[in-house]
Amino acid sequence: MSRIGFIGLGIMGKPMSRNLLKAGHELVVYDIVAAPVEELVAAGATRGASAKDVAGRVELVITMLPDGPEVEQVVLGSGGVLEGARPGLIAVDMSSISPVVAQKVGAECARRGVEFLDAPVSGGEPKAIDATLAIMVGGEAATFEKVLPVLKAMGATVTLTGPVGAGNVTKLANQIMVACNIAAMGEALVLASKAGVNPEVVFNAVKGGLAGSNVLNAKAPMVIARNFKPGFRIRLHHKDLRNALAAAEALKVPLPYTSLVQQALVALINQGDGDSDHSAIVRFTERLAQAEIAAQGR
Ligand code: NAD
Repeated sequence: MSRIGFIGLGIMGKPMSRNLLKAGHELVVYDIVAAPVEELVAAGATRGASAKDVAGRVELVITMLPDGPEVEQVVLGSGGVLEGARPGLIAVDMSSISPVVAQKVGAECARRGVEFLDAPVSGGEPKAIDATLAIMVGGEAATFEKVLPVLKAMGATVTLTGPVGAGNVTKLANQIMVACNIAAMGEALVLASKAGVNPEVVFNAVKGGLAGSNVLNAKAPMVIARNFKPGFRIRLHHKDLRNALAAAEALKVPLPYTSLVQQALVALINQGDGDSDHSAIVRFTERLAQAEIAAQGR
């Protein structure tokens, strides 16, 4: 598997495609924004004219797009992957989308003789750069085995979780845990700050105990330094929780904590924080408490 197409060169797609180049793959890239395409071409990739054009020139096409509607458009739509697909093409969507949309796209691909996997990722931009993402895959085991070496060039753990759609179910589970974890951290550190105890001291005191987590280690220092540069945008996390709530409703599973945090994200987007890092979820509690998490107190 050496000729790979990569469509969607945003915060995640750009470093992920760079890692495929580093691993020695030939890459054809496409994005509707010119700047990242130029960067990848300068690094050795070939420019694709459209998703259809990319699909016609490769054996494997990877998409890393914002949400389901973009994936449907790019894979199934006019000028899309399926229009350009040659027999034997494999399509791997690494975006975080609704499992229902992943299944729809997978079924259309299968109808056209294209093997499809949904393979969303966790770890954010730093792990995309380091090629240490956690990759959660849904699809046929035989297809998974074929693309595993390519996925390993972008991730530290690559797990087959079930049939098409299971990758995104796993990703929704991940996003629920991350969002609720950041929200809980926000409440805890606002309380500490208002009580006059330095949140940095609190963080260092608890991080080795049961409350310690990868989320806390990544996000508490950002919040304390008031660094909300994305990373993972509030807007995208809102999209993930909306997809989680829709999936939960279809399955009759109440998700009260998720829905509370999802509503906080709606408010944060209205307040102009949609493009802030999701560590800014803490601002919801800060505004309610009229208190900021900052390295004050003792
Ligand atoms: P992003 O918005 O930075 O990148 C998306 C890219 O897709 C952009 O470059 C955009 O121009 C391109 N695009 C949009 N529509 C297109 C189209 N029709 N044709 C071609 N290109 C198109 O988003 P991101 O942060 O890279 O996230 C991508 C996906 O990965 C999302 O589903 C997100 O939820 C998920 N994700 C992001 C992170 C993170 O930390 N940023 C972590 C894990 C998963």
